[in-house]
Amino acid sequence: MANKMLSFVGVGQRMPDKRLPAERRRDFREIYAEFEPARAAEQAGRCSQCGVPFCQVHCPLHNNIPDWLKLTAEGRLEEAYEVSSATNNIPEICGRICPQDRLCEGNCVIEKGFESVTIGSVEKYITDTAFERGWVKPPRPRRELDQSVGIVGAGPAGMAAAEQLRRKGYKVTVYDRYDRAGGLMIYGIPNFKLEKDVVLRRSRLLAEGGIQFRQNFELGRDATLADLRQRHDAVLIATGVYKARDIQGPGSGLGNIVQAMRYLVASNRKGLGDEVPEFDSGALNAEGKRVVVLGGGDTAMDCVRTAVRQGAVSVKCLYRRDRANMPGSQREVKHAEEEGVEFVWLSAPEAFLGDREVQAVRASRIHLGVPDATGRQQPQVIEGSHFNVEADLVIKALGFDPDDLPTLFGAPELEVTRWGTLSIDHRTLMTSLDGVFAAGDIVRGASLVVWAVRDGRDAAEGMHRYLRAKAAGAGVTAQAAE
Ligand code: FAD
Ligand code: SF4
Ligand code: SF4
Repeated sequence: MANKMLSFVGVGQRMPDKRLPAERRRDFREIYAEFEPARAAEQAGRCSQCGVPFCQVHCPLHNNIPDWLKLTAEGRLEEAYEVSSATNNIPEICGRICPQDRLCEGNCVIEKGFESVTIGSVEKYITDTAFERGWVKPPRPRRELDQSVGIVGAGPAGMAAAEQLRRKGYKVTVYDRYDRAGGLMIYGIPNFKLEKDVVLRRSRLLAEGGIQFRQNFELGRDATLADLRQRHDAVLIATGVYKARDIQGPGSGLGNIVQAMRYLVASNRKGLGDEVPEFDSGALNAEGKRVVVLGGGDTAMDCVRTAVRQGAVSVKCLYRRDRANMPGSQREVKHAEEEGVEFVWLSAPEAFLGDREVQAVRASRIHLGVPDATGRQQPQVIEGSHFNVEADLVIKALGFDPDDLPTLFGAPELEVTRWGTLSIDHRTLMTSLDGVFAAGDIVRGASLVVWAVRDGRDAAEGMHRYLRAKAAGAGVTAQAAE
């Protein structure tokens, strides 16, 4: 077969077609179209098959990117799917929502002066095609084992661990307090980045493979951790982080100042066809309002773009650092700007003005000072630089911390770090409680879907070692499981 690779000299970077902003503003559908097969092959063929592929090094799953690009370029899509799914439980989701500019694509060293290979969109294309052609199968173990595991949290960490453990033959039950599986992939991340059918078809597949889902089940309310430890041979905690950081100050108790997750959950539920009284009453609907979003991370980007689609009159994002120093993906900022969002960089909110409901945010200009020990320039308020931004709805997207799990789960002996995340032994992936493992944001702090998948897969390996040792009647301590 003729060599289809190394075509980057003659073939430029072309993402799948992006819908025009004016059209995007009117609906919640994903903004990129699917690759045409010929375009996917052409773009995959731009890869120069590096001897040391930095794309792979910087993918948290160490996906075998050069190999699946080569197979795609050669039209061998089923094999490309086999390679891609060997290291990733949800390639079609990571292909859509990883911040590739900071991970694989940002480290693609194709050749100086040429733009990176469009790795994420090829990854999405491979698995979407695999679903269409029926190549994606439910996890089917070669033999059934007697031992059972309980997984708390049906987000990407819990789902990845559930699939890996089911493949090995364990009986797997996933508990989640929400009514649908998927965690933040369902109720946090909006449709225009990740359509919900894409997530739901994954959880359906896991259920078809024999994984039991117990929705509307909240650990701490419906059972204690001790109950689950009695019920199962091992337990995984993958409950994410949900305690919203807040801002205090004059006027912070006024009406129409809401937390980002409350706002996004309502919007996502509406999209899923649920009854959402808080949305229907207008309280959590941006239509006809001047919206101000506080924060500069992925959550803030999702809020501003949701508000645009709901028909806000204006949408402004206030962030205390500048564009280069924001935590959110640059690609998302570009999308938001195209859709009409205004960024007010280097500005920090200080007070909220209004009678009963907010009418304006009072903010100050910021100067970025000298870097601190972490290397980040510290924001300093410029004296006397106050200004007001009019607002009918203020959305706070300032980040998340872990809840107090030892208290909530009735397990005071569960050790946490000084940030409140669960403490684990990094060799065994086990918490301070025998047979209780942890993965995802609850260990790492607010992070990314791809890291949650990685943690879920690692935790599944740790649990497998532990359960084998337990079945063999060996010691069941963390050391014995190594
Ligand atoms: P989660 O996805 O949070 O899942 C935890 C699950 O545990 C939830 O279903 C929850 O209901 C359940 N649970 C919690 N407590 C209990 C309990 N006591 N009992 C039972 N169940 C419980 N990452 C990206 O890679 N790309 C993005 O574009 C992106 N955008 C984001 C946008 C928003 C708005 C937010 C908030 C996050 C975004 N992230 C993004 C981050 C990403 O969603 C998370 O890092 C990832 O989902 C963490 O996975 P997890 O499995 O650890 O937890
Ligand atoms: Fe890139 Fe994410 Fe896919 Fe890894 S999982 S190759 S980082 S898009
Ligand atoms: Fe191909 Fe870029 Fe990865 Fe090199 S770094 S193997 S060119 S995708």
